[in-house]
Amino acid sequence: MEQNWNVLKNACMDCRACGLCETRHNVVFGVGNPQAEVLFIGEGPGENEDLQGEPFVGRAGKLLDVMLEAVGLSRKHNIYIANMVKCRPPQNRDPLPEEQAACAHWLSEQMRFINPKIVVCLGRIAAFHFISPDFKVTRQHGEFIEKDGVLYMGMFHPAAILRNPNQKPVAFEDFVKLRDKILEICTRTTLNFDD
Ligand code: SF4
Repeated sequence: MEQNWNVLKNACMDCRACGLCETRHNVVFGVGNPQAEVLFIGEGPGENEDLQGEPFVGRAGKLLDVMLEAVGLSRKHNIYIANMVKCRPPQNRDPLPEEQAACAHWLSEQMRFINPKIVVCLGRIAAFHFISPDFKVTRQHGEFIEKDGVLYMGMFHPAAILRNPNQKPVAFEDFVKLRDKILEICTRTTLNFDD
């Protein structure tokens, strides 16, 4: 598996299938353990992610890491984090439909390899695509929805929590629910509180 994963990653890192390749600094393939049972999905890289080549860095990424670590999860050990679009759109505009379409197969391939038991959609856009076009993050965050044998959960995007810190306690409850579900259904995931 590792060899095939690396082939996929290398191919993605060289991708020039849409115009975003002209302005990116780095392809943001993803980070974490590709054998994880829990996959987090975001929309696309921002400025810090583009510069560092890693999803969810900067202030929003730090907040995500703090909440993850409080429930024994970490991008170093037991989850994988990827975006729907791998290259940053200029000035953080929304990815165009044709850019999303060109990029979608990379995440599909990642999902096929990882074969997660739980998929967490960070923010409205990911939830729209993977859970339902009617998904309302404010009302339905923290709910598990089964699709094809996989449990999907929508969460507040960490950048939205930074903009509205009142949401932090409610948002953290979703991480606790996630931990409880992992303990219930995941057989290979070890919660980690070492770092
Ligand atoms: S955004 Fe996706 S499809 Fe476009 S160049 Fe980057 S990796 Fe390729």
